[in-house]
Amino acid sequence: MTTYQGSCHCGAVTYDITADFTEGMKCNCSHCKRKGFLLAFVPESSFVLKSGQDEQTTYHFNKKHIDHQFCNTCGVQAFARGHDGNGNYMIAINLNCLEGFDATTLTITEFDGASI
Ligand SMILES: [Zn+2]
Repeated sequence: MTTYQGSCHCGAVTYDITADFTEGMKCNCSHCKRKGFLLAFVPESSFVLKSGQDEQTTYHFNKKHIDHQFCNTCGVQAFARGHDGNGNYMIAINLNCLEGFDATTLTITEFDGASI
């Protein structure tokens, strides 16, 4: 397992995530498409928010199941909070926000969120 540092653009929001990422998910829903997310889902236990808890705005839409949190200063959404299908608390990592991470090695999954 590798620990990566994630952050928004201005650096107000920072976190550590420990995982071995082999897959990334692209979703075509109205929200993911606009933000250009490349996502991976991890258990909360592997995620540590280091700064910026109070410097984010939470955005909800559709079923409001996911807390989309973006930086108040630079607007970048480096992660989201939500639950998987079994009710487990999960973190959605925006892989584009990880320092020194090479996303070209990932297997990309296309998720048809637009049809949900
Ligand atoms: Zn920021």
